[in-house]
Amino acid sequence: MDGERVSYDTRNGCMHCGSLTFSSEYYNAFKVLVCNSCKTQDDLISKGTAKSLYLLTDTDLKKLGSISKSNPQKKNWSPMRLYLLSQVEEAAHKKHGGPEGLEEQRRTQLSAKVEKRAAKRKEDSQKEEQAAERLKQIKERVEQESKRGRHVPTGEVYNDETGMHEKVFGDGPAVEIELI
Ligand SMILES: [Zn+2]
Repeated sequence: MDGERVSYDTRNGCMHCGSLTFSSEYYNAFKVLVCNSCKTQDDLISKGTAKSLYLLTDTDLKKLGSISKSNPQKKNWSPMRLYLLSQVEEAAHKKHGGPEGLEEQRRTQLSAKVEKRAAKRKEDSQKEEQAAERLKQIKERVEQESKRGRHVPTGEVYNDETGMHEKVFGDGPAVEIELI
C-alpha cells in the first residue's frame, strides 16, 4: 500500500451515516470507512468500465485499492476486479483535468473511434473493389484465351474445304460451319 493514502481514524465511523461499525472489506481494500448498511453495489465499478468510461489504464488502476469478486454468472471465469467508483472518478479527474477534462477526453476518443471505423469501412470497400476488379480481369483473360482456342476441344466438325475433321474449341467456328 502506498503512503499517500489518507489514513482514516476508525473512531469516526461510517463516512455516510457515522455508524461506528464499518465494512472491513472496504476498509482493507480502499481505506474508507463505510458501514455494511451504507455499502451498495453502486459504490463499485468493474475494471473494464473504469478503463472504458474513466479512461484509466492498468497502471493507473494499480495505484487504487480493489476487491476481487468471483463472477456470479460465470463461476469458472477469472474473478472480477472491482474498484471504488469515487476513487476511480477522482483518479480520472486528476489524470484528465477535472470533470471537464475527462468529458473532453471522452469526446476526443469517441470521435477518433468513429473516424477509425469510417476509415476501416472505406478501406474494406476499396479492398472489395480491388478484388472485384481482379476477378473481372481473370474472367476477361479466360474469355480471351478461350476465344484464342487454347482450351480443350469441345467437339469435332468436318471441314468440306479441306476434307478433314477439325477440332472445335468453345463456341468457336462450329456454328459457322455447315455440316453435310
Ligand atoms: Zn453507514
